[in-house]
Amino acid sequence: MYVFRKSVLWAGAVVFAAVLALCFGLASYSSARASAPVPFTVVLDAGHGGVDPGVLGVNTGTKESDINLAIVKLLEEYFSEAGFRVVLTRKNEGGLYGLPTPGYKRRDMEKRRDVILKNEPTAVISVHQNNFVSDRTRRGGQVFFRDGDAAGTALAHSVQDRLNGLCGKELSPLRGDYYMLNCSAYPSVIVECGFLSNAQDEALLVTQEYRQKVARAIFEGTLAWLS
Ligand SMILES: [Zn+2]
Repeated sequence: MYVFRKSVLWAGAVVFAAVLALCFGLASYSSARASAPVPFTVVLDAGHGGVDPGVLGVNTGTKESDINLAIVKLLEEYFSEAGFRVVLTRKNEGGLYGLPTPGYKRRDMEKRRDVILKNEPTAVISVHQNNFVSDRTRRGGQVFFRDGDAAGTALAHSVQDRLNGLCGKELSPLRGDYYMLNCSAYPSVIVECGFLSNAQDEALLVTQEYRQKVARAIFEGTLAWLS
């Protein structure tokens, strides 16, 4: 872990230097403004929560909402250590809707949108788990992007590449018509980390070790996209 954290910090420093050079030009790099750069902001969105558990695992009924939050907490750690400004839409197991009265799902989604709009992020990463009961052999990570979101599409490809490496798959990211992708103009992806309808994926996703691998794949895919 110590070696990884050092490499994370180094990777973060390289990305920052590269983007600073691009944005400000080498001539102004030493200016007072460039010496105190505004860090990249990433909004991390753990899907579902509260009365909405998302999908349930085929083996033991693991709640998607719990896995999403656990992976987002790991991502928060990795991005923070690399110098990012990190904002979470959901910080605990509760939803964002207030009371679970009619319309709660809409209120929950709109609160997430408000967090994104307020923070003007470099990227939005929404974490979910997949479900496909008509074919329980399907497994592995699947990334979605918004049609017309060029930066988000590139981010989706970068993250998908790393998730493919983790699962031995050759999947391509897919266009998705989802609220979390459409609710702002910022580069946005939905990462479905695995299929809770698949026994192997659920068995992996309940372990901290595999959650770390997934989070690291998403984090490194994002760093590669930025650079
Ligand atoms: Zn979900």
